[in-house]
Amino acid sequence: MKRAIVTRNVRPSLDARAGGHRLVDVIVQCLACARDNRLPAARMGDKPRCAACKAALFPLARPVSVANSNEFEELVRNSPSPILVDFWASWCGPCKTVAPELEKLARERAGKVIVAKVDTESLPEVAGRYGIRSIPTMIVFRDGRESARVSGAMPASHIAERLAI
Ligand SMILES: [Zn+2]
Repeated sequence: MKRAIVTRNVRPSLDARAGGHRLVDVIVQCLACARDNRLPAARMGDKPRCAACKAALFPLARPVSVANSNEFEELVRNSPSPILVDFWASWCGPCKTVAPELEKLARERAGKVIVAKVDTESLPEVAGRYGIRSIPTMIVFRDGRESARVSGAMPASHIAERLAI
């Protein structure tokens, strides 16, 4: 089974296009050749290609994992499209039920919606900041702000409808 695309914090960088705000580089693994490609989070709206095999790295057709709370804020702030964040935990049965539904949404809405996953066990401060009381909870952010949220396992079509994505 292929490893999922994983983004993780590497180092802050400066990007003039973002007005000098500190940005975070993310690493996106090429699904074609498995090479890790380093990109500033702000380039998620461009159409970067793999440095090794030139396959398109985007649109993201799979959920990305958020590695730390700084990265979470950067992704939400810099995301060129609405970002659907799944707050989950490995011990949570309904989270396992809803995981393939989120994979489906990421696939069907590649280029329109970015699906990101926050493990509430490893990032409790992010879950706390957004007042997550039950999991799975899914929040959609548009232009860096929360626009809708829903809790509980349900089919992809219901998630899309409830979150208006
Ligand atoms: Zn490649």
